[in-house]
Amino acid sequence: MRTFVPPMHLLSKSTYLRGKQCPKALWLYKHRPELRPPVSAGTQAIFDSGTEVGLLAQQRFPGGVDCTPEHHYDYAPALAATQAAMAAGAPVIYEAAFQHDGVLAALDILVRDGDGWIAVEVKSSTRVKEQFVEDAALQYHVITASGVALNAMHVMVIDTSYLRQGAVDVQRLFKLEDVTGQVRAMQPEVQARIAELKAVVQAEAEPVVGIGAHCDTPYACDFKGHCWAHIPAKGSVLELTNAREKQWELYARGIVLMKDIPAEEPLYTSQSRQVDGWRYDRSIVEGERIRAWLGELRYPLHHFDFETVMPAVPLFDGTRPYQQLPFQYSLHVQTTPGAEPTHREFLGDASGDPREALVQQLLQDIGPEGDLLAYNASFERACLRGLARDLPQHAPALLALAERVKDLETPFKKGWYYVPAMNGQSSIKAVLPALVPALSYADLEVQEGMMASLRFAQLLRGEYTGDMEQLRRDLLAYCKMDTLAMVKVLGVLEGV
Ligand code: SF4
Repeated sequence: MRTFVPPMHLLSKSTYLRGKQCPKALWLYKHRPELRPPVSAGTQAIFDSGTEVGLLAQQRFPGGVDCTPEHHYDYAPALAATQAAMAAGAPVIYEAAFQHDGVLAALDILVRDGDGWIAVEVKSSTRVKEQFVEDAALQYHVITASGVALNAMHVMVIDTSYLRQGAVDVQRLFKLEDVTGQVRAMQPEVQARIAELKAVVQAEAEPVVGIGAHCDTPYACDFKGHCWAHIPAKGSVLELTNAREKQWELYARGIVLMKDIPAEEPLYTSQSRQVDGWRYDRSIVEGERIRAWLGELRYPLHHFDFETVMPAVPLFDGTRPYQQLPFQYSLHVQTTPGAEPTHREFLGDASGDPREALVQQLLQDIGPEGDLLAYNASFERACLRGLARDLPQHAPALLALAERVKDLETPFKKGWYYVPAMNGQSSIKAVLPALVPALSYADLEVQEGMMASLRFAQLLRGEYTGDMEQLRRDLLAYCKMDTLAMVKVLGVLEGV
């Protein structure tokens, strides 16, 4: 039997929320941390972005004493520093740490308010979510139980109505929401939950908890590799498309594989297509509809794809938080059906706002004739309209381009072309390997749009520490693959 030695605190804000989502996730985190996968580069970049927002948020309450601990595993100095700063009359304290009865709370910003204090939790989100209030309720409990008079508890989020002009205005970038009433009402529940979760942490045995919707709500659990090991990698009901909890209803009835779903089970059309693919290896090719759709495409055909960044803190004048900013495109042009395409591309130089240069080249690369073909066209249309709004000198030309965009996803989304390997999905990442297995993103350094976006954002902020020229080559290769994939997929449809 292993002996569990309790650390200085049994629970913190993050472990409390983890345990609230699933007691087993809390127990595993404390007792079997080796089962967690390493943090991916994408997740790390999201953490880094949250840290950047947190530091900027401190400027909303300037002149604070920073009590951030040197090591996250040793909060004793931070607890002492917080007490000292309060006693010394500090008007604002950053990362104020409190501990009560084995529960640690590290608060983003503590602001003196007369004889009491106001607590502020910062989130890089655009709205106050339910889990943020739960988080704040725990902070409120620990801080007040430590003997601190809290006059109010606020959650500070990003205000998407803020339009940057000049230096970032932190007073307008952030907005405060008062959650005092809610967190006070939640105190009995918080105290009961703390007792429950302490017992979980101190238990010798792993709690028995089945898998379920809670594994992804509100966060995707990092112990799925352990708990979901019995679920087959392909063909399980947990992959059912458009499921809306149906997958868990089936799983609870003992149905693990899609092929075992009873024939009389009520399913949406898209689900029936997917399930029949697993049951009977059934493909669908509605040649007449596909040929009619192909017949409406006007050439020269411009296979087109944007990459964008969505920085939480606006990087350029005239932009808002989390605004989509196109920084790159790839364009394969076919003059006639089946013709060898020519390729054009643009990638911003990351020295400033890339949009003017991007639009100027785009309007040269795309002539006055023919359609633009995008995959999930609403995204490209929205980007073109956003550019037209922000660069009014180009608005007529950009809005005219937006009118010419057609969607290559249509034949797959509508189910006119379906093969079982698509597994109920119609995204290019599902359709390409199913239809053109020889063409793959697997050999590329940048393999998905999120990574391209995170890397370019690092370039813009001057934070990228790797080989910049290599990164530019990787970004160009990734975006080029997206439109080359479209050419190949269209080729398959033309063979119908
Ligand atoms: S994978 Fe699901 S059951 Fe397992 S610990 Fe995570 S939330 Fe709990």
